[in-house]
Amino acid sequence: MRIFIPFLFNSALYLNWASAATNPSQHCKPLPSSPNWPSLEQWHALNESLSGQLHAPIPAGTVCHAGQPGYTNTSCTIAKTQWGNSSWHANNPWSTDYNDDTCLPDPIAPCSTAGYPAYVVEALAASDVQEAVNFARQTGVRLIVKGTGHDWPGRSSGPGALSIWTHRIRGINVTHNDPRAVAYGGVASVKIAAGMQWRDIYQQAAAHNLTIVGGGDVNVGIGGWILGGGHSPISSRFGLGADQVLELEVVTADGKHRIVNENSYPDLFWALRGGGGSTYAVLLSVTVKAYPRMPTTAYVFSYNTTANSDTFWSLLAYFHQQLPMLSDSGAMGYYFVEPTVNSTAVGMIAGGWFFPEKTTDQAKAIVSPMEKVILSYPSWAKDPIVGGGFPEEMDDFTTSFCLAAEPQSVGVDGRLGSWILDKKALSKPLDTLKTQLKKSTPTPWMLLGHLVAGKGVRDAKIPGGSNAVSPHWRSAYSHIVIPRSWPYLNATDKAAVTTSLRNEANEALRELAPTSGAYMNEADPTISDWQEVLYGDHYPRLLELKKKWDPEGVFWCKPCVGNELWEVTGPSSMDKVEWGIGQTGGKICRK
Ligand SMILES: Cc1cc2nc3c(=O)[nH]c(=O)nc-3n(C[C@H](O)[C@H](O)[C@H](O)COP(=O)(O)OP(=O)(O)OC[C@H]3O[C@@H](n4cnc5c(N)ncnc54)[C@H](O)[C@@H]3O)c2cc1C
Repeated sequence: MRIFIPFLFNSALYLNWASAATNPSQHCKPLPSSPNWPSLEQWHALNESLSGQLHAPIPAGTVCHAGQPGYTNTSCTIAKTQWGNSSWHANNPWSTDYNDDTCLPDPIAPCSTAGYPAYVVEALAASDVQEAVNFARQTGVRLIVKGTGHDWPGRSSGPGALSIWTHRIRGINVTHNDPRAVAYGGVASVKIAAGMQWRDIYQQAAAHNLTIVGGGDVNVGIGGWILGGGHSPISSRFGLGADQVLELEVVTADGKHRIVNENSYPDLFWALRGGGGSTYAVLLSVTVKAYPRMPTTAYVFSYNTTANSDTFWSLLAYFHQQLPMLSDSGAMGYYFVEPTVNSTAVGMIAGGWFFPEKTTDQAKAIVSPMEKVILSYPSWAKDPIVGGGFPEEMDDFTTSFCLAAEPQSVGVDGRLGSWILDKKALSKPLDTLKTQLKKSTPTPWMLLGHLVAGKGVRDAKIPGGSNAVSPHWRSAYSHIVIPRSWPYLNATDKAAVTTSLRNEANEALRELAPTSGAYMNEADPTISDWQEVLYGDHYPRLLELKKKWDPEGVFWCKPCVGNELWEVTGPSSMDKVEWGIGQTGGKICRK
């Protein structure tokens, strides 16, 4: 059944400035209020050409607002309780995990479609994607792609855009002994359709006795994750997600359906693996290598001391100094750091390491020397440190960890800062690490550490020899994330929190490793030198390939390759730094 809902865009915001005069020869992506916005007939024709559906937006929060579609108390209660559930957002054509404030599930908050795409194509097949890409290229409207909507930088949202929602493109196909996988150290290949999430993929891997390099959260989708690099709890062993790719099936900006691999369009093959989502093409499916089922020892730990004390920061610095040794000895996994746990007197470092194919004794032998120092009143500790860890055998890593882990809660107004630390940074003197880590994570914030690189990423067996993953990853040990949030509809808090994140906290991490960078999928999208930070030395080649494969800028997002070929303007009251991110709109014009 095809449902076409006529356009109901109701944002006064656009009317004020979207049609403001610009250089007449300058191409601007039309907004719903622009004179060159496609006519209703054109939208109807697009809808008719689609085997899927074209929808106008009904933001998920409308059910809480009297007079809006679907408004009932029951639906509102559901929306409120599901707002933190990323699976619920993934199943909604318009919603994303971090929707900002344009239509919250709160009757007293304003609600409009201003932060949402103008239309969504619910794509079921390659032909739907081709129709949508061709329409965007021919009319010039802004095009975005949404898989699950997990994206922190907001690249799967865009006010007034045409969105291709890939979540309904389904399917997983396993080929044991695929020679393409065997050539690069795998035992099978797995072809994954663009709409799949890690839960679906891990279930298939477990059923086939395979291990696959995938996301740490089962609700993350394959598209943005793998195109942006994709770190995994086991990437320290096998490399990043993009390093596993044998072949991609895509629709490029010219509307062509292409199979891309090391022999077919090798330059595009290189760029797609790490060059970022919605930049070169729409992904329809990806084929990756898989490895045998993997017994693993997990080591769950927690070290506690006085909250926000000198001892706490020394402990954190010492812990970080040990990370290269742990990683080189076979540890991988995650840790989280709370300088002050829930307003108590306790400061904590906790987490879990994984030791693939190691016994519990071997795992303990690796962790013990560090733990003995921590728990034996070292010279740098003024307060007692308590805690420790325990090992646990896992028969199959995929079943016991990947499928057992609870998905993370989403739905906050927030932003991430992050930085990739190499061995040189982690080997800095205790006092230096202490000072910088303290500046990065003042109470009440947390630090999330990802020991997901090291040897496996440095020596990854990459099909075709190399890919576009930022070179910063190849010398990385820990990817450090510093999340921030603010109360919704509070522009003052948002400005204060995001400014100090960008200018102080993130800078403190950066000073530890000035020549390193950040992971594009979990970085602050407002960093000014994002090209070097997110893509490193690969940027010039990526930009050339962007010009070759998408000369008209059909795909545009922030911060993405080629973003700087366009400029974004908006109402003067808006902060320029924010323009073009997620729901913050703007008039996007070719420079
Ligand atoms: C709770 C949570 C846990 C996370 N855990 C991890 C983790 O363990 N490892 C890790 O590396 N990252 C992790 N991330 C970050 C994750 O990599 C990004 O959020 C990523 O963008 C998700 O991709 P997606 O397709 O699910 O999301 P989306 O928001 O739908 O898309 C993200 C980007 O990719 C583009 N895109 C999506 N699908 C396609 C497609 N088919 N073709 C072209 N472009 C597409 C979008 O346009 C957008 O630019 C996590 C994020 C969250 C919120």
